[in-house]
Amino acid sequence: PVREATTAPLALPHGIDLATFNTFIDNVTSIVGAENVRVITSMDQVDDGSYEEPTHTHDPHHIVDQDVFLASAVVAPRNVADVQAIVKLANPLSLPLWPISIGRNSGYGGAGPRVRGSLVLNMGQNMNKILEVNVEGAYCLVEPGVTFMDMHNYLVENNLRDKLWIDVPDLGGGSILGNTLERGVGYTPYGDHFMMHSGMEVVLPSGELMRTGMGALPDPRKPETMGLRPEDQPWNSSAQLFPYGFGPYVDGLFTQSNLGIVTKLGMWLFPNPGGYQSYMITFPKDEDLKAAVDIIRPLRLAMVLQNVPTIRHITMDAAVMGPKTSYTDKPDEVVGDAELDAIAAKLNLGRWNFYGAIYGPEPVRQALWGAIQGAFSAIPGAKFFLKDDTPEGSVLRIRDLTMQGIPTFDELRWVSWLPNGAHLFFSPIAPVQGEDAMAQYEITRRRCEEAKLDFIGTFTIGMREMHHIVCIVFNKRDADQKRRAHWLIRTLIDDCAARGWGEYRTHLAVMDQIMGTYNWNNGSFLRFNELIKNAVDPNGIMAPGKSGVWPAHYKKEEHIM
Ligand code: ADP
Repeated sequence: PVREATTAPLALPHGIDLATFNTFIDNVTSIVGAENVRVITSMDQVDDGSYEEPTHTHDPHHIVDQDVFLASAVVAPRNVADVQAIVKLANPLSLPLWPISIGRNSGYGGAGPRVRGSLVLNMGQNMNKILEVNVEGAYCLVEPGVTFMDMHNYLVENNLRDKLWIDVPDLGGGSILGNTLERGVGYTPYGDHFMMHSGMEVVLPSGELMRTGMGALPDPRKPETMGLRPEDQPWNSSAQLFPYGFGPYVDGLFTQSNLGIVTKLGMWLFPNPGGYQSYMITFPKDEDLKAAVDIIRPLRLAMVLQNVPTIRHITMDAAVMGPKTSYTDKPDEVVGDAELDAIAAKLNLGRWNFYGAIYGPEPVRQALWGAIQGAFSAIPGAKFFLKDDTPEGSVLRIRDLTMQGIPTFDELRWVSWLPNGAHLFFSPIAPVQGEDAMAQYEITRRRCEEAKLDFIGTFTIGMREMHHIVCIVFNKRDADQKRRAHWLIRTLIDDCAARGWGEYRTHLAVMDQIMGTYNWNNGSFLRFNELIKNAVDPNGIMAPGKSGVWPAHYKKEEHIM
């Protein structure tokens, strides 16, 4: 079936007139089928949906007007050949494509494209198979639409949880592939997803298919002689075991970037450690953050802290437990220190709350728990909790699942701190140093308060650095609050850059500003990326503007907001 003729999208792709667009859509429809093409012709289609039901047309957490980061159409390829055919059609037109896997990407722009009117390629809708779970090698090979929840369910349904776990982020509904490409994190010892991936299959802007690492080495059985298309051929047997292969390591080029469409990803699974214990340590005072972080650094480096632990501010846990109105009768005012203490007392939490887990058989856990308790006892007033010491619905009970690779959706609740709650993440990196943590807390909380928004934040501890995740929650039906939230992130980016802190990932609206801060030696980093971009994607079809990298024929100033 062919789509009804001449439907005008709300937003045409950059540089494309309506007649060209319609011809293009007709051609795409004949490739993927009408059921896989949706042209966005009316604001009735631009519905924010929900986490459970994402709509893929735009960013549902819109910090600017709802239709700024809007797709012209959403197209779901059925397979690699479809993706290649679409790329071939887009090239002569320089038509911008914006690949997503699941398109939730919550707080960083959702499914919305950086350039209004780009064609959103919904890779996950039809390409959603778990291609392999290898128990001996402890890895999986997945297509774009496989979520963390899907993989967990697979492990449960196949009685594999006693052997393998999947590391999961705060929410289980995102894709393994999309999250890894964004360099997202989870909270088991395998929390750094990019570090734990092995092997990518990519449709390049030319339409050619490439496998990275050991995947570039052909299978000795010569599957091409069996009549298999490249994408259906078995991978080299080490492709999911050794990520680097030979020669330049290119996988990083496909993360937070715009150089290709990833169609398969290998991912390491975490071997069941043979025992598990989560815990929480609460610290009563704001300034305890300093000592806590300085205690964490050597423990984390030595892997006494085995997983990616978090130190959460009291507002974050409070927001999971209830909306702002359940704690204060002055919801229009920023929550002050006295109220924070009252909330902490009510919830039996500290100003800062540290969540971690211990992995291994009983004697191993005993030894590590002894070391951890001993170290943190140096902080006056520190209290130690296991899951059963906390009430039903506690954040520790949620984290207990997350840190053993069982995905949940409970952390969604902090977005409802405010009515019509939406959010934006501000995520600067810093050394694991008490002084840095205190200084980042001071500046981010002060700027939040200047914007008349509550500070909600958590420090996530990697191997040698912290991702400080500031959750900027705003009422998306309140234009003034949105302006303040936007002002806040823009101001914080510059504040932090001035102190040597840069962000690890960001929302569409501020990608250019952040790339502008990574400007050492006359911006050689961006210029090198532009060189690669223009060589690999000369027509600039792939996600123009992603991470502040623009094709040569775009006038970047016209797109910066
Ligand atoms: P999630 O699965 O967490 O909802 P998304 O599907 O929204 O994440 O993907 C996040 C980002 O990762 C996208 O905005 C895009 O930049 C990139 N991305 C996702 N899937 C692909 C893909 N298959 N190929 C290339 N880039 C992708």
